[in-house]
Amino acid sequence: MTERSCVFCGGRGSKEDFLRWVSAGGALVPDWTQKLDGRSVYTHFDKKCISGIYGTKKVFSSFENCDSFAVPKEKILDFIRTQAEKSFGYYLTICRKSGVLFKGQNLIAEEAEKGTVFTSLVFASDAAERTVRELERKTGLKGLKTILSKDTIGTKFDGRGVSVFALKPSKQSEKLMFYMNLLNNFTSGDI
Ligand SMILES: [Zn+2]
Repeated sequence: MTERSCVFCGGRGSKEDFLRWVSAGGALVPDWTQKLDGRSVYTHFDKKCISGIYGTKKVFSSFENCDSFAVPKEKILDFIRTQAEKSFGYYLTICRKSGVLFKGQNLIAEEAEKGTVFTSLVFASDAAERTVRELERKTGLKGLKTILSKDTIGTKFDGRGVSVFALKPSKQSEKLMFYMNLLNNFTSGDI
């Protein structure tokens, strides 16, 4: 594991969990794919840390000839939200195809009764409280409420509303949850 630390808060973690920033032509640009050449710093994929570096000159001290951001803060936050949504949709499809995703209250309850172990339980923003309580009890998991409605999640499937989906343990499930959390983080609250 390659460890990195966030230039804003100092928190450490693995490289994939960070957004890389590269100096290009005297300005700092985000490097979503972590492939651009040049000196770089990292921030958490977190609204606080990304907004944070825009509020301080400290970030530029790691570079020789770099003293501005190539893109305004609002654009970056928008960009990450868009990318997160795309990647979320992508991994949703992958998870479905590889059979690690189960959707719908009845199916998940049935599977849980059969002894299927899930690692994540994700509820639509407008899922009924009763559904949440019942499935949390049956799966033994604490559910995550997304900012996405039943209808929005449904459009990623066959168009019919989806109030809940559950994931079995897998690498793809982890990716899906990563982007799900990213999407939540970048869509809710103030900047
Ligand atoms: Zn941070």
